[in-house]
Amino acid sequence: MTSYPHLLAPLTIGSRTLRNRIVMGAMHTRLETLDNPAVRITEFYAARARGEAGLILTNGYSPNIEGRLEEDSEVFDDSADLGPHRAVTDAVHQAGGLIVLQILHAGRYAKHPYAVGPGKDRARINPVVPRMLPADDVWGTIAAFARTTELARQAGYDGVEIMGSEGYLVNEFTAELTNERDDEFGGDFERRCRLPVEILKAARDRAGEDFLLIYRISAIDLVDLGATGAEVAELARRVEAAGADILNTGIGWHESTVPTIAASIPRGAWTFAARNVKEAVSIPVITSNRINTPELAEELLADGTADLVSMARPLLADPDFAAKARAGRSEEINTCIGCNQACLDRIFTDRTASCMVNPRAGHEIEFTRRQPGARKRIAVAGGGPAGLAFAVNAAELGHQVTLYESSGALGGQLNLARVVPGKSEFNELLRYFTVRLGLLGVDVRLGTPADASALACPEFDEVVVATGVTPRIPAIDGVDHPMVMTYADVLTGRRVPGPRVAIIGAGGIGFDVAEYLLGDPEESTDPKAFHRAWSIDATLTTRGGLTGTPRADVPASSRHVTLLQRRTSRPGASLGKSTGWILKARLRQAGLRTISGAAYARITDRGLHYTADGQPALLEVDTVVLCAGQESKRSLHDELRQLGVTARLIGGADVAVELDAVRAIDQATRLAVAI
Ligand code: NAP
Ligand code: SF4
Repeated sequence: MTSYPHLLAPLTIGSRTLRNRIVMGAMHTRLETLDNPAVRITEFYAARARGEAGLILTNGYSPNIEGRLEEDSEVFDDSADLGPHRAVTDAVHQAGGLIVLQILHAGRYAKHPYAVGPGKDRARINPVVPRMLPADDVWGTIAAFARTTELARQAGYDGVEIMGSEGYLVNEFTAELTNERDDEFGGDFERRCRLPVEILKAARDRAGEDFLLIYRISAIDLVDLGATGAEVAELARRVEAAGADILNTGIGWHESTVPTIAASIPRGAWTFAARNVKEAVSIPVITSNRINTPELAEELLADGTADLVSMARPLLADPDFAAKARAGRSEEINTCIGCNQACLDRIFTDRTASCMVNPRAGHEIEFTRRQPGARKRIAVAGGGPAGLAFAVNAAELGHQVTLYESSGALGGQLNLARVVPGKSEFNELLRYFTVRLGLLGVDVRLGTPADASALACPEFDEVVVATGVTPRIPAIDGVDHPMVMTYADVLTGRRVPGPRVAIIGAGGIGFDVAEYLLGDPEESTDPKAFHRAWSIDATLTTRGGLTGTPRADVPASSRHVTLLQRRTSRPGASLGKSTGWILKARLRQAGLRTISGAAYARITDRGLHYTADGQPALLEVDTVVLCAGQESKRSLHDELRQLGVTARLIGGADVAVELDAVRAIDQATRLAVAI
């Protein structure tokens, strides 16, 4: 009897048996752009197979040149390319896993001049104007899908997933919004459904019976003129009849103005859309989006929402997710916190994906586990993200680690992030580190500032200084006025701002403080509150699943908050690409004011005096919150140097400028391996 009987139950389809219901969803990683791509990609998937994922879906491969997402995206249309694919499938099969190739035709989301679509309108998020596909070319595209399916079979894949959601080509054909045709592939609903049906039939013909065909259906489009729930259900039935073995569910088009996978979305907020598909068909259905724990996954399978659970980012964060769940070690799962900072935000800015909480992701070949040359005794000063990541990784490699934390709690800056509405997932990172420290026997000394002379003793072979940062106090006349507080004062709850607040500094933390003061925490934890705020129709009766303009009905906050920066650029430009727009939409509606190009003059009893565009101005406020960046805390390091100890500096103590947890954890993990 396991703790997750539904999640860990095998599933047999034809001659293939998935060892559990955990599906690693397809993710664009751009690993092919790094050095040694074939070995890197093979090891990336093999690690997830060794971690006992039931089924792995690859990133999308285009069936032809037009369907590439980017100019350098991969096309799989030639048997000359079978070699690297075979290496991947062999490695996954050797590890006892199953792997399916996703076939993705980008349609009008393609960022190159050969983009095509079922119409001539360009997407809101892409400057490229597509060419309308003539009917002959549609048949050619169907043949290309079938050809790639056959190649996938030859390469040893267990099946293919036809990408029919997120607003890519196949979804564009099924939606009234984008299908401008009046031929056999457009016009009424029947003809709009024809492309996926023909693709599945052709794929089945070429691949034969014993090959998994997964269709990823858009369970809710979240765009005007998208499908209703009834149309989604009807398409699901047609796709089943055309030969699909499994239906995966996609949520929202990329151009939708409703967020779908950030941490500010409650866990399980989209399962109603998967349930609609599940009720329409008899083949297994996969649910997805914001499901990041085995507990929630088990609940969704047990209550009949779906038959399988897709977790892409959670398996980026912890390749051993399934193995740990099976072994009853779910407390040790390094949970995906939905930050998107090292995965989607990097992909959206043409970089390669990794993971904030697991810097090994995508870099597996750089982190091959080796035994340390000698077991070292290591002192770590500071229990923030860098110190914690170093301590856990060094202890995992067999070193004897003593961790000093001057405050009474571990976490450092994580403790500030996790109180911000929409960021409570940071609690999971803290839980992971804490559990691992305990199991690895790290000597954690809370409430114990590291003392230079104690660290300088021969008891330690290495000293790592991760003493973090302190908020920068800008040189503004009156900055010592009692109305002035730092972001740390506010986010720790040590001080409470008044009703009228000026925030100095519009970086990530300035926005976090604004959200802390104006945001509604319920929206991020209660699916109903989230649906209300973003006009999501959980009954699926309206077109696209929207009841109106997202956030139009959210009332403004009674608090008055103004965010200022000296730069003249748009405030929030430094926020993550995939999450910044969500935060800005929430804050705009809550009534946040922003001022750029401010020169701070002084702070008096009346408020904050500044000039903008050469004009003196006064913000009459009760509180000024300083979010003007950080400075490294290095006194311990300096003292150690004076005592002749060469300590290793990491995290904010090393470089405070634009420090974030991604950089801190990455640097700490790499040092632990190198030390
Ligand atoms: P930051 O992003 O560097 O922003 C600091 C802000 O303070 C800037 O707006 C800067 O703008 C202003 N500033 C700097 N020096 C100043 C001075 N002497 N006087 C007045 N204003 C000054 O730093 P942060 O907001 O503290 O964030 C720290 C790190 O955490 C960043 O890397 C950030 O990206 C990351 N983080 C990210 C997120 C997220 O988006 N997910 C959330 C929180 C934190 P001006 O110079 O124009 O005034
Ligand atoms: Fe999850 Fe953040 Fe890692 Fe992406 S970077 S996988 S969102 S924890």
